[in-house]
Amino acid sequence: MSKILIRGARVLGGEPQDVLIDGETIEAVGSGLSADGAEVVEAGGKVLLPGLVDLHTHLREPGREDSETVLTGTRAAASGGYTAVFAMANTFPVADTAGVVEQVYRLGQEHGYCDVQPIGAVTVGLEGRKLAELGAMHESAAGVTVFSDDGKCVDDAVIMRRALEYVKAFGGVVAQHAQEPRLTEGAQMNEGVVSAELGLGGWPAVAEESVIARDVLLAEHVGSRVHICHLSTAGSVEIVRWAKSRGIDVTAEVTPHHLLLTDELVRSYNPVYKVNPPLRTERDVLALREALADGTIDIVATDHAPHPHEDKDCEWAAAAMGMVGLETALSVVQETMVDTGLLTWAGVADRMSVKPARIGRAAGHGRPVSAGEPANLTLVDTEYRGQVDPAGFASRSRNTPYEGRELPGRVTHTWLRGKATLVDGKLT
Ligand SMILES: [Zn+2]
Repeated sequence: MSKILIRGARVLGGEPQDVLIDGETIEAVGSGLSADGAEVVEAGGKVLLPGLVDLHTHLREPGREDSETVLTGTRAAASGGYTAVFAMANTFPVADTAGVVEQVYRLGQEHGYCDVQPIGAVTVGLEGRKLAELGAMHESAAGVTVFSDDGKCVDDAVIMRRALEYVKAFGGVVAQHAQEPRLTEGAQMNEGVVSAELGLGGWPAVAEESVIARDVLLAEHVGSRVHICHLSTAGSVEIVRWAKSRGIDVTAEVTPHHLLLTDELVRSYNPVYKVNPPLRTERDVLALREALADGTIDIVATDHAPHPHEDKDCEWAAAAMGMVGLETALSVVQETMVDTGLLTWAGVADRMSVKPARIGRAAGHGRPVSAGEPANLTLVDTEYRGQVDPAGFASRSRNTPYEGRELPGRVTHTWLRGKATLVDGKLT
């Protein structure tokens, strides 16, 4: 395979250096490296990061190929700087057997825009009653280590306890979508001042926080590992902070949209802002940013949730919940965390590559940018500013809340094991 010399890249935002890729591996990192026999990419001071890893992506295949496929979703991922994504289990059929997770895994390998690691369902059919074949999914070719009923909460405490006990045997993790179902019946948006004014059904913070509190205690009780999906409230942050201070093995994620947007936007009645968990208040947004900065929240995960326009372009109450996120995640993190001085680029690499790879055990991802490591890399023009234009998305869906908004940063190149998947902003 050929050699590539990335010249003058700010590795993790540091001083410009050259990075030489030979085949699938980084051969050298240093100054004035020889370009002999190598294709040269002039980085011109762009920031080079390890390829991003998304622990929470909805690829929709099998069953909802009208909104996304493994191919279009992984193309969207490569456009956004990702080299690995974890595919959520709420497909049709549900990924609750070795057969379905192997199908998704194989589709990922065939398309090759990024690595696809399937997430297995915790319960059969996401129904919350009977544990799925966790062991069989782990032992399958897909090697599942992350299990989630995301979209639904594992609300039965006994089922949650058994799942935590089961995955402990092979070092797996249960990723909980924390939503107490009875407290959120008919919920349309965050419960608060705005929902009261608009007369829309409220999704109270306590419905998230009570489940997180229960689950960190269950994880402590059985000595297992729990991951909390898409934290959205200041109270959730406090509970996770307390749990970590107690030594409980808990990790947590926040989405880009919960770092930037608030429930004030719901006043527009534009369903593009309808998402689960809902957009919260300014106070929550600031607490989430602070928690991501201080490490209480471990990672950023997109919760990329593509929907066809007929499921979003309708009245608020009828619209599906969710937003696409893979192609804008890094820009939103730059806007909310880097340009505000809360995180360095090394911090971004940690929260968007190193830690998600570690939580999900994505081998070869989230590694240091140094000699001998797999060449999973992304190059970012951090000086760029431009308006988000969903017409240019690689995703099959367009349900972004950022249409027309100016955001900083643009991924120009992505390499998956030395193979370019994105060059000058264009998919290969
Ligand atoms: Zn969820």
